Amino acid sequence: MRRNVELTGKVALVTGGSRGIGRQIALTLASQGADIAVNYLRSENDANSVLSEVEECGSRCITVRADVSKSGDVKHMKDIIINKLGVVQILINNAGIARPQPIHEISESDWDELIETNLKSAFLVTQAVLPEMRKKGWGRIVNISSVAAQIGGVVGPHYAASKAGLIGLTHSYASLLSKEGITVNTIAPALIATEMVTANPNARPDLIPVGRFGTVEEVADAVVMLACNGYITGQTININGGWYMV
Ligand code: NDP
Repeated sequence: MRRNVELTGKVALVTGGSRGIGRQIALTLASQGADIAVNYLRSENDANSVLSEVEECGSRCITVRADVSKSGDVKHMKDIIINKLGVVQILINNAGIARPQPIHEISESDWDELIETNLKSAFLVTQAVLPEMRKKGWGRIVNISSVAAQIGGVVGPHYAASKAGLIGLTHSYASLLSKEGITVNTIAPALIATEMVTANPNARPDLIPVGRFGTVEEVADAVVMLACNGYITGQTININGGWYMV
């Protein structure tokens, strides 16, 4: 298999790497030579099967159980990765949850849970890995936002706000780190065929101008492009079948 000179031997952490988009990002980065830390919360069996597939690519891999919305879990995860694989130089903040709810049913605890899982997690994990990444002077951070940040989407205002927050997070880190060899970008997908979408009755392919759901590979390929490119930073890459255009 062709391995990428830039990525070979670099350690990538994919949060929520057990399933869906994160799983494919882990496999695609591994196919390009990166070593992979697969973070998961509940899906241990799925995480272990990602580990097997990554090792088949010839890359090193570990799985790490951590709730990325909890600072204690995040610190523990970072220590394990440094001990077993090395310094994280590619961070994909992908873990997330969506709870489609009518407006009147969204409670304060729903709001807190989505903001903590989808937004605070990216802050916690980024803060945890940044000191060593900065010492290395090379890093790539990709935050998985959503078209919901741009047009509202099909989940609810709590989800849209959490995903819009990721874009601001990206802009701040990208500008503060631009002189240090670290790029920070956002990917904003829409209706990618994963459990998150197939379980949401509001998500229909006819909403998408190209007339179908996107594939996890179409997102993962963009992650590799960003990981290989040192001149794209602070950007939002839209992968949405033409649903939102800028
Ligand atoms: P899935 O539901 O298929 O997978 C979600 C992943 O996140 C799982 O691996 C899950 O791990 C993990 N996860 C959830 N909560 C936590 C947590 N607290 N700590 C650690 N891991 C956690 O979703 P998708 O693959 O579809 O979505 C991935 C990302 O892409 C999400 O951020 C989502 O919001 C975003 N997105 C998805 C779109 C889509 O159309 N699918 C569109 C736009 C954005 P486990 O199962 O082990 O608990």
